[in-house]
Amino acid sequence: MKRTFEVAPWNIVTHDFNPKDKRLQESMTSLGNGYMGMRGFFEEDYSGDTLNGIYLGGVWYPDKTRVGWWKNGYPDYFGKVVNAVNFIKMHVKINGEVIDLAKDQFSDFELNLDMKKALLTRSFTVTKGDAKVAVKFERFLSVAQQELSVQRVTVQNVGSNKVDLVIDSAIDGDVKNEDANYDERFWEVLSTEQGTDSGNVLAETTPNPFGTPRFTSGMEMRNVTDLTAEKVAQPSEKEVVNEFFGVLAPNESAQLEKRVIVVTSRDYDTQAALTDAMHRLSDQVAGQSYDDLLTAHEQVWADRWNKSDIVIDGDTEAQQGIRFNLFQLFSTYYGEDSRLNIGPKGFTGEKYGGATYWDTEAFAVPVYLGITDPKVTRNLLMYRYKQLDGAYHNAKQQGLKGALFPMVTFDGIECHNEWEITFEEIHRNGDIAFAIYNYTRYTGDTSYVLNEGSKVLTEISRFWADRVHYSQRNKNYMIHGVTGPDEYENNVDNNWYTNILAQWTLKYVLQILKEVSPEQAKKLNVSEDEKKHWQDIVDNMYLPYDKDLNIFVQHDGFLDKDLKPVSEIPADQLPLNQNWSWDKILRSPYIKQGDVLQGIWDFIDDFTPEQKKSNFDFYEQYTVHESSLSPAIYSVLAADLHYEEKAVELYERTARLDLDNYNNDTVDGLHITAMTGGWIAVVQGFAGMRVRDGKLHYAPFLPKKWSHYSFRQVFRDRLIEVDVDQDGSHFKLIDGEPITIDVAGKPVELSK
Ligand code: BGC
Repeated sequence: MKRTFEVAPWNIVTHDFNPKDKRLQESMTSLGNGYMGMRGFFEEDYSGDTLNGIYLGGVWYPDKTRVGWWKNGYPDYFGKVVNAVNFIKMHVKINGEVIDLAKDQFSDFELNLDMKKALLTRSFTVTKGDAKVAVKFERFLSVAQQELSVQRVTVQNVGSNKVDLVIDSAIDGDVKNEDANYDERFWEVLSTEQGTDSGNVLAETTPNPFGTPRFTSGMEMRNVTDLTAEKVAQPSEKEVVNEFFGVLAPNESAQLEKRVIVVTSRDYDTQAALTDAMHRLSDQVAGQSYDDLLTAHEQVWADRWNKSDIVIDGDTEAQQGIRFNLFQLFSTYYGEDSRLNIGPKGFTGEKYGGATYWDTEAFAVPVYLGITDPKVTRNLLMYRYKQLDGAYHNAKQQGLKGALFPMVTFDGIECHNEWEITFEEIHRNGDIAFAIYNYTRYTGDTSYVLNEGSKVLTEISRFWADRVHYSQRNKNYMIHGVTGPDEYENNVDNNWYTNILAQWTLKYVLQILKEVSPEQAKKLNVSEDEKKHWQDIVDNMYLPYDKDLNIFVQHDGFLDKDLKPVSEIPADQLPLNQNWSWDKILRSPYIKQGDVLQGIWDFIDDFTPEQKKSNFDFYEQYTVHESSLSPAIYSVLAADLHYEEKAVELYERTARLDLDNYNNDTVDGLHITAMTGGWIAVVQGFAGMRVRDGKLHYAPFLPKKWSHYSFRQVFRDRLIEVDVDQDGSHFKLIDGEPITIDVAGKPVELSK
């Protein structure tokens, strides 16, 4: 655990700058507006270690797979999010020398991410020779206009001598991905234009042999300042710069505002249309003041917070954690663009390449259902429907029928090449099916499942029916050679979670097939024989179970391991993935993330309290939570079992996972899909929220350290507020028609 920011309810703020923590702090101060995002790297020169990362939603590159030995079925490429043209770049020069915090003497440092306003500011006082200046940078990515990035820099002479100031504002197309298999560049610059207070760079992703689309991006800047412009030569063919200078007497200050419009070929068919849009949008924002642009941005954020803020009194750490979770989640995805999805690192790093994982269906869908309009979740479901062709391709690559949705993807085609993940972690197909059920159960809207959803479910079922085999000896169906959610086990047989999801999908599709229209049934073309076979699998699926322990067994052989609890591992050997060999991890009983317990969470109402207890007690002792996705699920189950302290401890771990760098890997970027965990733990865990037969149920408790918490939840055209304090729980209908909910087993009528 490492904490580099102060504890504050609405801010991620520090007054400490240690170059060793630079990348960590960059990850934590990332900004995003769903359309694009960036790490909190410095706009000015910095000669120390840094990852200058800016990423554009849906802009990716198929990087040729790199493996020692090729195996049949390997995906040809690993999709990578492309580090975009750097449009926030600046140089600030004092008496002819650039400011560079890796080398300069400075004081009064503050780095401050204001989550309410979604505004990042950084200020410091720097001494260079006999000059002393105070510098303040501000920036935001507008949510009122997604193509807009706004920056402002203020320099004040706080010394006693006059200072020559130069500010260069640039757009630089000379960028590289850190994560590139062959160290290649993914952009080529097509054209540049440099004026005195404006400039633009058009770049296209380099050609690839796989036939995936190339993307063009256009960035245009307009700079507004009281300094004097000086026309300078272009620094290179890939970069444009505007230079401004002035002389600051003691106490005098100067300011520069930079507005950049970012457009991509995702939204325009031709380069001419893209360029036109870039100029037009730049003209539109040119005349607006910084304050007006910021106010419009803040208002959209205010509306988001109004719908979904979770207020916690009595525990500022917990409060900061949940706000950071929601802030980063919304910065990544708010459902505006149905072509986009939620990458595990969002716009905050290159690892996991900004691609779509099962994380979306398993962890993000439950949260977006509760805090946004249903169409946001519907978009996420549509995303998979539109990628069915890719899923057919993936199944075919493995010699199987039906659709296998990818573990990692941008366009539906699997683009990750670790065989134990790509080939074996097939539970994702069941998670995608389950999300359809989850959406339908929560919203009551059957239009998706009876149309597009029934197609997705049918094709997934065809895959399962081909992937299972019948064991003549045991007279049941089995699934061999899989990886469950616990990736610290590979190539296992009969992973309980995979088997139960496969069985459940087949059961669900058989029910849905009875409900679809005759026209849809005709399109799906499921024969009676096929249905009979599916029913047979449902009736005879093997689900490993141990009678003595009354637990579902994670997979065949799990109980024969050297079963020693995590508490016996010396602290200096954790996290295991940074201290143990892979071989040792695979043989150990240690569980990276919920596996059996993930399944119990999915079907939480289907098990008895004794079953939940024996499984939780057994598996929890072996779980190391080295996946960020893990603690929230355990927190809900602990709350369900009234293990309140455990539930709170796991909440803290999930909500502050990145803030406290629990897994020692936040330098790579934030765990965006795990940012759902705080909400899941509070709402499903502490407040005990469930949806049963179309009705909302709650069974709240108040964590000991807290004096009060409240949240708002969207449910079937209503906005409901839940308040829990020492006097009990209070429910209010903020918006919508009267509704009856269930609180600890009793009906409660809510009306405005
Ligand atoms: C987890 C996977 C997850 C991936 C991306 C891995 O560490 O084990 O379940 O899909 O990260 O978040």
